[in-house]
Amino acid sequence: MAKRDYYEVLGLSKGASADDIKKAYRKKAKELHPDRNADNPDSERQFKEAGEAYDVLKDPDKKAAYDRFGHAAFEGGMGGGGARPGGFGGGAGQGDFASAFSDVFDDLFGDFMGGGRGGGRQRAARGADLRYNLRVTLEEAYAGLQKTIKVPSAVPCDACEGSGAEGGAQPSTCPTCSGMGKVRAQQGFFTVERTCPTCGGLGQIIKNPCKSCQGQGRVQKDRALSVNIPAGVETGTRIRLAGEGEAGMRGGPSGDLYIFIEVAKHELFEREETNLFCRVPVSMTKAALGGDIEVPTIDGGRSRVKIPPGSQSGRQMRLRGKGMPALRGGAPGDMFIEMAVETPVNLTARQTELLREFEALSEDNSPESKSFFSSVRSFWDSMKS
Ligand SMILES: [Zn+2]
Ligand SMILES: [Zn+2]
Repeated sequence: MAKRDYYEVLGLSKGASADDIKKAYRKKAKELHPDRNADNPDSERQFKEAGEAYDVLKDPDKKAAYDRFGHAAFEGGMGGGGARPGGFGGGAGQGDFASAFSDVFDDLFGDFMGGGRGGGRQRAARGADLRYNLRVTLEEAYAGLQKTIKVPSAVPCDACEGSGAEGGAQPSTCPTCSGMGKVRAQQGFFTVERTCPTCGGLGQIIKNPCKSCQGQGRVQKDRALSVNIPAGVETGTRIRLAGEGEAGMRGGPSGDLYIFIEVAKHELFEREETNLFCRVPVSMTKAALGGDIEVPTIDGGRSRVKIPPGSQSGRQMRLRGKGMPALRGGAPGDMFIEMAVETPVNLTARQTELLREFEALSEDNSPESKSFFSSVRSFWDSMKS
């Protein structure tokens, strides 16, 4: 049996205020209480149904999820299966669709629409903006990529062509607000304007709601969306796909989809804007004698770098243009190789012998040590006097 719409259960319409919901539930609960309905065998079920509806609608988070996705908001899993990009699911409790959803998709209504809850007709009818968190590798950020993402989203209902009315009939003007979406009420000396409780601010009502979508004009469905991620994106890059967000209510315009990029840390390269840094260990002997080393580049290739004799740890060498591409055009960044001189370990007897011999022959081979220890000596002397 199809689940009844929670608003319908409580005799409310969408957009009812928290106060209205509370009042409606109290009234229903009294009316349907099994103690007063000994002769109505269905009253217990109805009583429970009203309780369940109230449980959802009294909670602002649950209500928001329900308003957007209907009952699907609380059914476990989002279907689809397979690889889930961007960290779907991730251990969210069964049946807790709303919280699983918010990991990846957040309602950006507040962020992008200037906040506030004031609902005019436009606001009520437009679909919500969606946020999709997409994690990419540094290599992908370098090359750009095309990604197919599954967007669990409300789409216009086919059965009623998004109108929300059974058989495609046109909704009629709301009699309570005459299509204004708002009603005025006198409260003491003040006239207050409220969202119309009958039509929830839409200005229209549906006499005969579509059975497929319970009059919402939209249904829950996964959509596959192919997205082009340009080369050069970085963590925090937002890509807006106009009109790819949630479908509007009853044929209203769709919201937008925002893709938030997060670039994963790389094992070899560190990024600073368009420049890349790579720390390369160099053996003590190579650093002393000089020579070539081969370093990786982010495009998967390799570059040969000349190490001058007597190079110290921390020495940087620049590979021009081997960094990341600039997202908005312009020259690509550079790659910096930072040398880390490695002292040899696990010496054999022969190696130890050679190094001892080398040490015995050393004179002016360590100018930095020499000047450091001469400073140290004068420091001690100054402390004595
Ligand atoms: Zn429909
Ligand atoms: Zn109205």
